[in-house]
Amino acid sequence: MADLAGSATQLLQELLRFNTVNPPGNERPAQEHLAALLRDAGFEVELIGRTEERPNLVARLRGTGDGPTLCLLSHVDTVLADPAEWQRDPWSGDVVDGELWGRGAQDMKSQTAAEVVAAVALAREGWRPDRGDLLVVSVVDEETGGGEGAEWLTEHHPDAVRCDLLLNEGAGAAFPFGDERVYGVCVAEKGVFRFMLTTDGVAAHASTPNVGDNALLKMVPLLQAISERRPGFDVTDPPRALLDGLGISLDGDPAAALDALRDRDPRLAATVEPMLGVTLAPTIISASEKINVIPSRACLQIDCRTPPGMGEEQVRTRVHELLGGAGYALEFTEKVVGNASPVDSPLMDALRGWIAREDPEARVVPTMLPAFTDSRTFRAAFPECVAYGFFPQREMTFYETWPLMHARDERIAVADLGYAARCYRDVTKELLGG
Ligand SMILES: [Zn+2]
Repeated sequence: MADLAGSATQLLQELLRFNTVNPPGNERPAQEHLAALLRDAGFEVELIGRTEERPNLVARLRGTGDGPTLCLLSHVDTVLADPAEWQRDPWSGDVVDGELWGRGAQDMKSQTAAEVVAAVALAREGWRPDRGDLLVVSVVDEETGGGEGAEWLTEHHPDAVRCDLLLNEGAGAAFPFGDERVYGVCVAEKGVFRFMLTTDGVAAHASTPNVGDNALLKMVPLLQAISERRPGFDVTDPPRALLDGLGISLDGDPAAALDALRDRDPRLAATVEPMLGVTLAPTIISASEKINVIPSRACLQIDCRTPPGMGEEQVRTRVHELLGGAGYALEFTEKVVGNASPVDSPLMDALRGWIAREDPEARVVPTMLPAFTDSRTFRAAFPECVAYGFFPQREMTFYETWPLMHARDERIAVADLGYAARCYRDVTKELLGG
């Protein structure tokens, strides 16, 4: 089947017209549509879910010899969309001036469409893996944490989805760097260690402030420290390899490396900086419930993200450095450890090789996502699995696609759908032979 771009465009339009806003998700009709396509092409297909309405799709094309299982992963739920804010109906799937519009056009029904079309094209032309299996997995419930999707699936049906190599969302839209084009491959995801800082004082009538001891004012030095200083660097392999790929060494002082990057591209520096350590973002503060009562307690909530593999202990160390050890209490409210795959692997070689052929002037660099995706869940469930986020786009840059995620007027260049589908087809053949 030659026209991968046409097929991917049509399939994405069909997928966008299924409203899968999560909650509630209601992904079954979309999943059945995909299941029929894959089954007709020769895949063994299962729809398995915690509930009837929200099945996960697992499709397998068996190979003839031993080898790695390659999984093309995506999710079919989306975040909500308010039609009043959009220039077009978010569930129309309209194509206008070479762009396909709709909620999920970037995150991430586009990748679902490209992966499925590539897999179906291979199977229809009679291709079977020489070694290993090809898996196509589309899950539900990513946008609210994966409790019915990736987490449920890897916990309850690990044998159905165990894989050695995995391609998912996370990066791939090219960004300009000087006069070069650079594609990121997401190899790591940060952890989430949200916490609450509490200060204590003594309540009093607000008309006599010095009779009491205002807990809220004790937040001032803490907030000031967070606003004026940044936590020390915790450098891991992925950003080191990223900066290396851009010609900047991280072996000396990370601050100097960041400055060097900022000189060349301030926008890029702002996205790279969080990869270099723990980040602290205060987002919610509360104290007295009454305007005329001096608060005896104040609480500050901090959204904290940690480099892969780091957790509570590293957060405490960095907070202690920044705020000192006294005058507040710290309590974690959410703890999820981030993880990473090796920067070098046969999968990276295949992606590099593909870009080298398709876009010879461009570079490929590893990146890290400050947030996390289902790749984190797969890496945690299958420690040997090399999981990358890669959906190549060259028409729209990263700086154009990133602001469309979870936002109004989400859309994708139709040309990029075909580009990504070709990538998945070619890389699958290269890795599994046949
Ligand atoms: Zn997504």
